Formats: sequence, structure tokens, C-alpha cells
Amino acid sequence: MKLDDDVRLSILEKIGVYSDRFSISEPQAFLTSKEVLMAPKIVTEGRRTTAYKYYGVAYLEHNSIFINVKKIPDEKTLENTIVHELIHHRFPYLSHGKRFNKLVRLGLKGRTFPPYKKRK
Ligand SMILES: [Zn+2]
Repeated sequence: MKLDDDVRLSILEKIGVYSDRFSISEPQAFLTSKEVLMAPKIVTEGRRTTAYKYYGVAYLEHNSIFINVKKIPDEKTLENTIVHELIHHRFPYLSHGKRFNKLVRLGLKGRTFPPYKKRK
């Protein structure tokens, strides 16, 4: 998809809405690979120069996400990617799989989640 000001604004709005529903603090969003490369290395460490290969990346340690708008083919994939990356932030202990995908589906349907509580 092409990233213009309207698309950028609508993505940031969606991130805001889903962050509220998932009870997470709104992450900083990079929307181009260039923005990923311009971010401090400590933030994007591990997935910096390879980020462009993915639809999205969650940088959990530094409350940031990358939404690779240029690579994303359509609106549906965009929404899915936003929710996917935010689910990583809400459920940081969960890796990809059935349960993860189910949470993404629920998130897309408008489900809310209470705040994540770290075990002491
Ligand atoms: Zn993922």
C-alpha cells in the first residue's frame, strides 16, 4: 500500500483504538523501513536491517512496532498486521501458534483485554 498522510493518520488512529482495547500503552510506530533504520539502534536491535522482509515487527523491549505499509497488499492485511503486533505487546510471553492467532481474531472482532500483569 502507498503511505500518504491519510493512511498514516488512519494507522495511528487504529493503533490508538486497539491499544486502548488491549490495555497497553500505545507503542511508537515506524511505518517505513527508513524510520526503522533511523530509530536508535538499541530500540530495533536484532530486527533492523531485516525488518523490511516482514509485514510487521514488534519491538517489545522498547514499546515500538513497525508496520511495513509498503509491503502490505490491502486494508485487511493492514488491520491484521496492526492487531498482530499489538497482541505481541499485550501477550509478550506468547509465541506464534493457535492461541496467538485466536487472540488476533478476537482482537479484530473488538475484544478488550485487561492489563497484562507481570509475575513477580
Ligand atoms: Zn508475530
